[in-house]
Amino acid sequence: MDTKVFRSMSYGVYVVGSVDGERPVGCIANSIMQITSSPATVAVSLNHDNYTNACVAKSGLFSFSILGQESDPSLIGGFGFRSSKDTDKYEGVDSEMVCGCPVIKDSCGYVVCRVIDRMETATHTVFLGEVIEGEVSQAEYQPMTYAYYHQVIKGKSPKNAPTYLPEEDTPQQGGKAVWVCQICGYVYDGDPLPADYRCPVCGQDAAHFRREMR
Ligand code: FE
Repeated sequence: MDTKVFRSMSYGVYVVGSVDGERPVGCIANSIMQITSSPATVAVSLNHDNYTNACVAKSGLFSFSILGQESDPSLIGGFGFRSSKDTDKYEGVDSEMVCGCPVIKDSCGYVVCRVIDRMETATHTVFLGEVIEGEVSQAEYQPMTYAYYHQVIKGKSPKNAPTYLPEEDTPQQGGKAVWVCQICGYVYDGDPLPADYRCPVCGQDAAHFRREMR
């Protein structure tokens, strides 16, 4: 099986939000699709290991904010590469609570859902949600596709993503030198890496980058 074929499938990039009691939680997801239009339902796939999964299951609510090409890419690092269990990911992020769920303003828009069904897979829960609210936030934003995230931002998939490919973590031999963020996988396309460099995706400093040949 050539798993690269999955790269031909189209996805967006989303911040999925929910609540742990009163506290907002969230994570990055790319596997979200609209299932029906009337009533409007959507499905989202979340890894069992994501704290947000347990919070969606418990609260019966989730939101997703649709990231755009103009959204701050550090949202992906902030929500995608650490856990809500021990971090308030919304600290310093322009967000609001809508129908009991956190949504991000620096996005194309948001949808809030009530969970009406779920399906378990070996690694992920697929939640089916009935849409209870939705608004356009930044009408001029172009929705970010997962391909854009890979090709333009040069990010990779967290290990919990349904679309994670193990070969993304395998350094290639030969080619030219680049610096790879060990937290989020962002690739700095140059050599050397400036000493005061900070990862534009996750905000880590130069010490978290490793030189690789690609
Ligand atoms: Fe990073």
